[in-house]
Amino acid sequence: RPSSGEKREVCREGGPEENIKDLVVSLKASFDAGHTRSYSWRINQLLGLKAMVLENEGELMEAYVKDLGKPSGDWFLEKNGILADINHTLSCLHKLMQPESRHTPLWMQPGTTKIIREPLGTVLIIGPYNYPLNLIVCPLAAAFSAGCNAVVKPSEQMPATADFFAKYLPVYLDRHSCGVVLGGIPETTSLLRIKFDKIFFTGSDRVAKIIEKTVAGTLTPMCLELGGKSPVIVCDDANLKVASKRIVQTKYINCGATCIAPDYIMCTSSVHDTLVSNLQKCVETFYTADAQTSENYARVLNGDHLKRLEGYLSDAKSKGANVIGGKIDQDDRYMEPTIVTGVTAEMLLMKEEIFGPILPIMKVDGFEDAVGHVKKGEKPLASYCFTSSSAKASTFLNNISSGASCINDCAVHVLSPDIPFGGVGNAGMGHYHGREGFLCFSNEKAVYTNDTLTDGLRWIRYPPFSTFKEGV
Ligand code: NAD
Repeated sequence: RPSSGEKREVCREGGPEENIKDLVVSLKASFDAGHTRSYSWRINQLLGLKAMVLENEGELMEAYVKDLGKPSGDWFLEKNGILADINHTLSCLHKLMQPESRHTPLWMQPGTTKIIREPLGTVLIIGPYNYPLNLIVCPLAAAFSAGCNAVVKPSEQMPATADFFAKYLPVYLDRHSCGVVLGGIPETTSLLRIKFDKIFFTGSDRVAKIIEKTVAGTLTPMCLELGGKSPVIVCDDANLKVASKRIVQTKYINCGATCIAPDYIMCTSSVHDTLVSNLQKCVETFYTADAQTSENYARVLNGDHLKRLEGYLSDAKSKGANVIGGKIDQDDRYMEPTIVTGVTAEMLLMKEEIFGPILPIMKVDGFEDAVGHVKKGEKPLASYCFTSSSAKASTFLNNISSGASCINDCAVHVLSPDIPFGGVGNAGMGHYHGREGFLCFSNEKAVYTNDTLTDGLRWIRYPPFSTFKEGV
């Protein structure tokens, strides 16, 4: 728990714009007064976040089930992602906060150069619906590690989880640390009218563009964590059994609503049928023959998303694809784990981010053809390749630009807190987790400290420069 005895309600419900303004003004004043800079303050906030998650696990799980029908396996993954990130930051924060000496050119010596990483200030963190705890807590931990305070705006699509933040963040964090604004578009728009020192947004590229437009002209730095279509290439030499297990697990977790989920598979005819049959077997093993009754299978967010997903299937069917699964129960927000074969690049599900439990498989002529297909589209958030050939793995890594890549796995890179997480191109800009999270909310201030005693030796820098010419 934070050592500070001073705790008070710092969160405000969405509502009058004045409330939101007051909240930000008070956080900015706390930052300017230096309350958030010390090592001990940062450590206490990180410990507070960790305690909040650990001490209220039951309530959090209830909120999840209410909001997303989230089964306990998915919750376990989300919780462990948070704890790994916070524990890692706790272990290296002291080192990260130290100034870093840099090489000083001879003519600038005996002066010295170094980098001081200073906190950016009061930042805004906007979260999406799909991992509603992780995608608020991890950026918040990164902001605290850098010595920033923050306003968080959880997704309005997850009201129970958002209420959890409003209830518990003020209990576990000190009063200078953060405020919670609840609500949707109007509240976020009010927030965006205020100048923050950084905006950290996780969500769709569609909304990211709206946010960019809203704050255009204010020069507010942004970290954008967006989505996209993360491809999987399954090579002819891959271990198909292991590949199928890993693809199915990472595709259908959270009912497909994972930004780094494998979006679609590409493989050749020679492995296609075996791969499809292995994938089907894994679906049945993990979720039983009727996934609707499985405790390990989550639900689609709402009716609109179900309609969108249903639209992908009818479009694919009308263009000759074969749908394996596809059962929908609107009242239960359920969509069966679905595999689609006979897929072509013209189908809607190969053009948009699927973000649901539909796994298309497109046949390609070979590895190069698959790489060529990915390179024709936008750079993905993540790219995956299953192969037993290290030469193919390096060709894959050297030719496909993406926020991250896994060889012989999907998505698990997100659980390693010592590597950066973020996108490239349309998948986003900026990184966080561990060191990169600290840097995301820091200004790397370059510092040169000179002496005054040796000024006589520095005549060359001062005008009139005719003295210099004459000297030459
Ligand atoms: P979204 O973009 O619809 O919403 C995200 C946030 O933006 C919410 O808090 C919402 O209230 C706010 N918002 C929505 N419309 C707005 C508007 N007009 N003006 C201002 N704010 C607005 O995203 P979502 O549906 O909640 O999440 C799914 C998307 O997020 C997917 O594209 C997914 O790939 C992406 N995502 C990315 C990551 C990542 O780390 N890269 C992680 C999770 C999700």
